[in-house]
Amino acid sequence: MLIGVYPGTFDPITKGHLDIIGRASALCQKLIIGVYENSGKRPLFSVEDRVELIREAIVDFPNVQVKSFHGLVVNFVRSVGASVMFRGLRASSDFEREFGMTLLNKKLAPDVELVCLMASSQYQFLSSTLIKEFALLGGNLEDLVPAHVADALRGKVLTDFIRD
Ligand code: ADP
Repeated sequence: MLIGVYPGTFDPITKGHLDIIGRASALCQKLIIGVYENSGKRPLFSVEDRVELIREAIVDFPNVQVKSFHGLVVNFVRSVGASVMFRGLRASSDFEREFGMTLLNKKLAPDVELVCLMASSQYQFLSSTLIKEFALLGGNLEDLVPAHVADALRGKVLTDFIRD
């Protein structure tokens, strides 16, 4: 059975991520989305919230699960019995970052293969960072994230605004 892992920060999950999830899950028997607990990106959403937002977004994918993890991604890949790691590549700077990380990961775990899927054209410029800026400015998020994620973002922006 081919088990794949799709790791990331997912702060929050976007339709660009979901596009990769749909395509990657069609290539393996089981896909596990791995959410970094200790992301260097200082996420807006807690790891529990990021996992929950993903869980709601993947209800229509029967062979997809979500789990959080800390430490090295290759250790997580091994711990769930997976042999393939999926990443999405956008036209901008994703390639160089992936290439650097892959060289390191290959040293640590030569048996784990990386599969990069090209971002679909309509999501090339979509990132979680852009989404958060958009939400702050009151932009329309409906085409870019699932409805429950748009709600969570609006709630977050509002509470942060009130707190400040
Ligand atoms: P990370 O901190 O690991 O980059 P992200 O949540 O930003 O976590 O991204 C997780 C993965 O999804 C990465 O491989 C990233 O390149 C990919 N990705 C992010 N946005 C998109 C998108 N719009 N289309 C395709 N892939 C994407």
